[in-house]
Amino acid sequence: MTEAIPASRCLRCGRVVAPPVPFCPDHPAPMEPVSIDGYGDVVSFTTLHSPPEGFRSPLHLALVALDGGARLFCHGAGTRGIRVGSRVAVEAVDQVYYFSHLGLLDRARLFWHRAGDRGETVAAIVKSAAKRIWRRGDGGGT
Ligand SMILES: [Zn+2]
Repeated sequence: MTEAIPASRCLRCGRVVAPPVPFCPDHPAPMEPVSIDGYGDVVSFTTLHSPPEGFRSPLHLALVALDGGARLFCHGAGTRGIRVGSRVAVEAVDQVYYFSHLGLLDRARLFWHRAGDRGETVAAIVKSAAKRIWRRGDGGGT
């Protein structure tokens, strides 16, 4: 019932990246478009208590390792019940990824509608939060 996530797979090393990009981040090899299932495990998550204007506080973000191999930063309605390793569903809405704890999909959907056309801003927030999480030393290995 979850939508597939558009992604790219490297023809040389098999790395999967979402959103789709024309070339592998690791080396200049072309990538083929693939769709991966929107299910994965939480690798790390954080909550911003001072989100930019226009967003409700707190703002919840999670780094999710999809079953298809890609890692995504996702915006979510909450992190209650979320821990590292939690199974979540991920959907892409206007180039922004949203996670929801399996079983709480309906609530998440309501939240997405509210996010509306602020998608671009959300993407920017997710990027800056991403840097923060990486710097904190999650590492992970890409
Ligand atoms: Zn590659």
